[in-house]
Amino acid sequence: MAGLYIHIPFCKKACHYCDFHFTRNVKQMDDMVDAICRELKLQFDFLEREVINTVYFGGGTPSLMNENQLKRLMRTIRFEHDLSSNPEITLEANPDDLSADKLDMFYQNGINRLSIGVQTFNDTHLKWMNRVHNAEEAQETFYMARQAGFENISLDLIYALPHDSHELWLEDLKRIIRLHPEHISSYCLTIEPKTAFGKWVEQEKMPDIDEDYAAEQFEILLRVMERHGYGQYEISNFAQPGYESQHNSNYWKQEKYLGVGPSAHSFNGNYKQANAANNAKYLKSLKEDIIPFEMMPMTREDQINEYILTSLRTKWGCDLELVKSRYGIDLLQHHEVYLRDIFNRGMIDVEDDFITLTNNGKLLADKIAADLFIYIED
Ligand code: SF4
Repeated sequence: MAGLYIHIPFCKKACHYCDFHFTRNVKQMDDMVDAICRELKLQFDFLEREVINTVYFGGGTPSLMNENQLKRLMRTIRFEHDLSSNPEITLEANPDDLSADKLDMFYQNGINRLSIGVQTFNDTHLKWMNRVHNAEEAQETFYMARQAGFENISLDLIYALPHDSHELWLEDLKRIIRLHPEHISSYCLTIEPKTAFGKWVEQEKMPDIDEDYAAEQFEILLRVMERHGYGQYEISNFAQPGYESQHNSNYWKQEKYLGVGPSAHSFNGNYKQANAANNAKYLKSLKEDIIPFEMMPMTREDQINEYILTSLRTKWGCDLELVKSRYGIDLLQHHEVYLRDIFNRGMIDVEDDFITLTNNGKLLADKIAADLFIYIED
């Protein structure tokens, strides 16, 4: 089964922490939808007619789309690709875009999973991050989504904000638990160089992320999620049983996916390609039925290390048999001393040929993965 990602590259405002690809020129939405429909058509065989079981509208802000635009995209997907009979279809949404009518429209047009960007329930923090909505709107939106019929809703939270405290973080967690969404994604704030926060840190107008403080907030997050029955199936993702995101799980299991729209990436099992992260270039090129993309060849080393990095972040862990059969590497033998050391220090479990991270190990997930990387000499 394969996945389809559609990038809608428009936002009303730039959040101070965000370095995703988008512009504020929402007037181009119709042209962009036309261009994406063309790309969907041109890419009809990228997945070699594999059945698509997940569709994900991300961005940017896909909730800015109107009914006509969504309908055109859905029609093109169904016409040009092999969509399974019961696909998971997710749409990322910002609370300020969602009225009862709009939610109803999304639901009636096949969206069956919403991912709502709440980020925090603290209005001061929301303003500081330059978010458009307030906490009250986020909560109301959630209730309206339930009324519209959505039974699979994910809410996003950000932690380790410089002006935060553990009390405020606990308050955010309490409020999200009270809403009882099926899925919660929670990310540590990262300071990206080209964002407003990146500049402020450089100019010393705000502090950089305090790693120890972030680790403490992550531990609080793990405790609260566990106590309330949310299983952690990836470092930043928690779900009630049966509500793990199928789309993201497909990425982590290295299934094929097609990404359409500016800046979207695709993977067909052997290589990746990346569309130009430039709306004007994308629109101009698609008018001539040319997709502006770059190939991203993946060596055997790249493939192994990407598998190690992504699999270790999940509850399923790194499959030693798969690494052996697919890449010809015996990880246990290759990193014997290091693996024994981190096992004795309680960072990993090794069971039935799978390596998984313990809660202590999750705090150092990226470092452990990097230490396990394989280097192959040409
Ligand atoms: S966080 Fe979302 S809404 Fe904010 S600028 Fe980034 S893509 Fe747009």
